[in-house]
Amino acid sequence: LILSEIGRSPGTSRRELAERFRLVPATVGTHVRKLVEHGFIAELDAEPTRSGRPSIPLTLAPNRGILLGITLQPTRAVIVAVAVDGTVLDRASTPFDSVSADFTGLACAIHSAIERQRPRTVIAIGVTVSGVIDTTTGTVIMSTVLGWRNRAVGAPLTALTGLPVVVENDVMALANRELTFSSSVPESFLLTHLDEGVGMAIVADNTIVRGIRHGSVEFGHISRNPAGALCRCGNRGCMQTVFGWQELNDTSPDGFIPDDVDDVSDPVRTHLRDRAADLGHAVGSVSTLLGIDHVRITGRTGRYWSVFGDSLVDALTRSTVTLGSSPAVDVVPWTGDDIAAGAAGVALGAYLDSLR
Ligand SMILES: [Zn+2]
Repeated sequence: LILSEIGRSPGTSRRELAERFRLVPATVGTHVRKLVEHGFIAELDAEPTRSGRPSIPLTLAPNRGILLGITLQPTRAVIVAVAVDGTVLDRASTPFDSVSADFTGLACAIHSAIERQRPRTVIAIGVTVSGVIDTTTGTVIMSTVLGWRNRAVGAPLTALTGLPVVVENDVMALANRELTFSSSVPESFLLTHLDEGVGMAIVADNTIVRGIRHGSVEFGHISRNPAGALCRCGNRGCMQTVFGWQELNDTSPDGFIPDDVDDVSDPVRTHLRDRAADLGHAVGSVSTLLGIDHVRITGRTGRYWSVFGDSLVDALTRSTVTLGSSPAVDVVPWTGDDIAAGAAGVALGAYLDSLR
């Protein structure tokens, strides 16, 4: 957060950072000293102040570390290069076969991405996968989207690239990005990710709520209907079967969802709105349970918000009456790079933690 703030406004002083983040100056001083020692931040010439103590403007050190963020999808991987202040510098997409799970092709694409950043140095890699991740070992415990169980990802990629690799759940990485690089997020919110998978990250008091093995919370596999459609996970009626991208397409009255929102037919419109009502009730259950009244919607399917948004909000409102006021809902514009950039942010966090 300090790095992104200095990136946004070079010349910021320690005192201004403390005021900005409502931290005691000593805390900011400790963080800044560490970042200066490791060359992430440079100190400019001191400016005199009325109190007598000079104020030292801070700036990001040029060409200091670059992070790579990678998101693994069933048939391809997206690789982004991100500066320490969160700016996306480069983007590449490469074929990736999740069935063979051969990482050598991916490692070649990683090396090309590293070459493109020269003379800047890539210091760490973050990888995201949809599913339950053991972040301590870099192992994917279960990913229904990739069809993986207990697959090591961090260790083989470290062996192929020689760089530290952190593996994280995709929605957790997205929440981390919101918390790390965005200056205007509420303290508590439910980040609902609607894409190939259906996911949610719970942020309470600026902290991401973690589940088993430090991994994810599995909103997508909450079942609201035991007699519902069979889910990829083996259970029935999961939120994944209701609003997963493939599942929405497979059950569409037209056999698919058109790419262009304007091409959505009336029967498909009704289909999306019915499903969104079901989803809205499920999000509302979590909102009521936790007393969190802010919902952020992300992911590719969010592009159809003009079709189904009011249906989702209506269901959400009806299922949260005990909160006393309807949750605020906002839609985060989807760029396709957000998750990979989030992975880079996770890699930066882990890298900074390792410098003690
Ligand atoms: Zn399921």
